[in-house]
Amino acid sequence: MLSLQHLKKYYQTGDTVTKALDDVSVNFRDREFVAILGTSGSGKTTLLNIIGGLDHYDSGDLIINGKATKNFQEQDWDAYRNNTVGFIFQDYNIISHLNILDNVTLGMTLSGVDAATKKKRAQEALTQVGLKDHIHKKPNQLSGGQLQRVAIARALANDPQILLADEPTGALDTQTSQEIMELIKKVAQDRLVIMVTHNPQLAEQYADRIIKFSDGQITADSNPDEEALPPENFHPRRTKMGFGTALKLSFTNIKTKKGRTFLTMLASSIGIISIGVVLALSNGFQKQIDATQTETLAQFPISISKVTSDPQQLQEENSHSKQNFAKGHQIKAHVVPVNAAQHQNHLNAKYLRYLKKIKSSDAANIAYTYATGFNLIRSVNGKYRPVSFAVSNSDNINNSQNLMAASTGVGGSVYPVKRDGHSSFLRKNYRVLAGRYPRKASEIVLIANKQNGINLDALKNLGFQFHNKEVLDAPKLLQTAIKVVANDDYYTQLPNGNFMPQRNYQQMAQAPHTQTLKIVGILRTANKNSDGLLAGGIAYSDQLTKQVMQTNRHSAIVRAQRASNDNVLTNGQLTATQKEMFLATLGAEKMPSAIQIYPKSFNKKDHITHYLDQYNRGKKKADKIIYNDLAGNITNITGGLMNAITYVLVGFAAISLVTSMIMIAIITYTSVIERTKEIGVLKALGARKKDITRVFDAETTILGAGSGILGIVIAWLLTFPINVLLKGMTDLTNVAQLNPVHAIWLVIISTVLTVLGGHIPARMASKKDAAKALRTD
Ligand code: ADP
Ligand code: MG
Repeated sequence: MLSLQHLKKYYQTGDTVTKALDDVSVNFRDREFVAILGTSGSGKTTLLNIIGGLDHYDSGDLIINGKATKNFQEQDWDAYRNNTVGFIFQDYNIISHLNILDNVTLGMTLSGVDAATKKKRAQEALTQVGLKDHIHKKPNQLSGGQLQRVAIARALANDPQILLADEPTGALDTQTSQEIMELIKKVAQDRLVIMVTHNPQLAEQYADRIIKFSDGQITADSNPDEEALPPENFHPRRTKMGFGTALKLSFTNIKTKKGRTFLTMLASSIGIISIGVVLALSNGFQKQIDATQTETLAQFPISISKVTSDPQQLQEENSHSKQNFAKGHQIKAHVVPVNAAQHQNHLNAKYLRYLKKIKSSDAANIAYTYATGFNLIRSVNGKYRPVSFAVSNSDNINNSQNLMAASTGVGGSVYPVKRDGHSSFLRKNYRVLAGRYPRKASEIVLIANKQNGINLDALKNLGFQFHNKEVLDAPKLLQTAIKVVANDDYYTQLPNGNFMPQRNYQQMAQAPHTQTLKIVGILRTANKNSDGLLAGGIAYSDQLTKQVMQTNRHSAIVRAQRASNDNVLTNGQLTATQKEMFLATLGAEKMPSAIQIYPKSFNKKDHITHYLDQYNRGKKKADKIIYNDLAGNITNITGGLMNAITYVLVGFAAISLVTSMIMIAIITYTSVIERTKEIGVLKALGARKKDITRVFDAETTILGAGSGILGIVIAWLLTFPINVLLKGMTDLTNVAQLNPVHAIWLVIISTVLTVLGGHIPARMASKKDAAKALRTD
């Protein structure tokens, strides 16, 4: 069965060399009960550990079933320990956090025996050692003798060919010792039992053969085996522990120290909590911003003006100007970037037709602004006098349309008439404060700001004499009538050919082409988050502009101005551009000076810009129509800012994750130290290095996932008080919202980091010398 040939094992400590085994040669039979007798320190345990494959010899050979072990690999020894040998120790080495049954099945678990067989065999083994009635007890509920019986059952469960017992009765009283010896003697009937003892009486009484041992050498052998070695017959199966077994082992271990585990998880969840809260906040803020943006910015039009700057070129020009100093001293003329990037949009009939084809599901409204001026008069205190829609400063300066209108001196805001015949621009974006919505081109409205204020400037230009903060009489305002006078009635031609505004306003008011406009409503923006799309003051439909143009297009002053290169009012000289602009003001313009396309929603805006981009594809630069998407620019800026803030905060929070990782490493290390014995037992049962690593990896997996889940739950719970707090501070509801996807990722990250942190101590554990591990107390 076993043959030891010239085995040597020396221990070097400092300068002294201990010869634990000093050239030991001995053979053992397949079935016998061998007692090894010797004083303490004579090398008995070393011998047993080497026979059991827990420790390795320095030289010589150990022949098992005819197989030399000189070239054994680690996994060969693992398989040998698991399949061929069973160990019994003086201090039982029962794993205290597993119950009796699990202790006994552990070896079989390692060799991959199925659950049912495992249980059956364990019960048989426990019955055999007389513990049938104690199967479900915990180790701490058993006496020493009973524990040693469990150890014998564990050693026998895998039906090993060799049973190694290291002073099995050393810690037991005489009575119990005898019972255990009886048991071992019975077991030895069908296998080789090698028992180490320093008790000669027990050896004499029970063993078949006594080998005396002293200073690492055999001094006597009562029944030496001189037979020739049998042929090789060694077939151990490889062992393998599943991750499930490792998890179970770790889980039962963790259960025995619930308090400590909870505190560990709590401490290491702090990083996850802080990241969770930061993400929940930024997530919520982003959602709020998105919602506000879709609500507010979606209404902002895409605008096309006659003169615009090409953003792409502007960027290029700017990047040029950031270059280094010029080499040499040559001096050049230079156009500033803004001017260089200036682009003339040549709006034409073809482009207008192209715009008409924008789906009304993408843009319900398109406003065309013309530079046409209105000749306005109003009766103030019974006398007509000229008035104007103009405002010098608007409440909201974001609006390019109104800036444009103000600069041409026309004044007032132009709102688009509905394209699809269903939704009206005003109905969608404005609420009535007084009066009603307009129904025809001649019905105009006053736009108030969010505090119901109407621009005093606009009112003064309309001929009213209010002062600041004055409360206005809405019904009275709604009775206001304003007259638009045709060019031919407004201007009179002098004998020298020049034109001059008439002063007979009373007569103008009665003229047949004069149209009466009525203020029918006072409106306010419907959107809490926006100042509205129209500037405060008068707003009218683009239909009205078209009517006025119709009337004035062929007026005498227009015809005269067309024919002359001098200003027909002042006689001053005009450049071509100035002439064009003046003609436009007089109502001779065919093309709009600006176009506003109002997208139906934020997403629809992309359809529109895509459609507009398509027009420019393949066109020469001069023929391109460049549009301006103010809302698009704002979105990009706020989105980027939010991300940047989130990254910084998550970065800070991540530092605590690293702290947790280090803490887990320390805790795993402590656990490794605490469980040294268990590591030894697992190795004695045939566990591979990998399996030991796995046990601790499993433990850190549980810890990591646990602290991740705990952190997520706490972070989620924290969002409630945070939201209450933010609601009180900012009036925003439900800002902190934990995204489930983030939650899952955080648990995964926590698990992975914890396992990483614990992996080095776990590797250390796997490298522990089994023989040394079992020697520790
Ligand atoms: P026994 O079991 O007969 O008491 P051991 O086999 O435990 O004897 O020890 C034999 C000798 O080897 C002792 O002198 C012991 O101190 C020494 N020894 C055992 N293990 C080690 C070790 N890891 N390092 C150094 N010396 C050791
Ligand atoms: Mg010993």
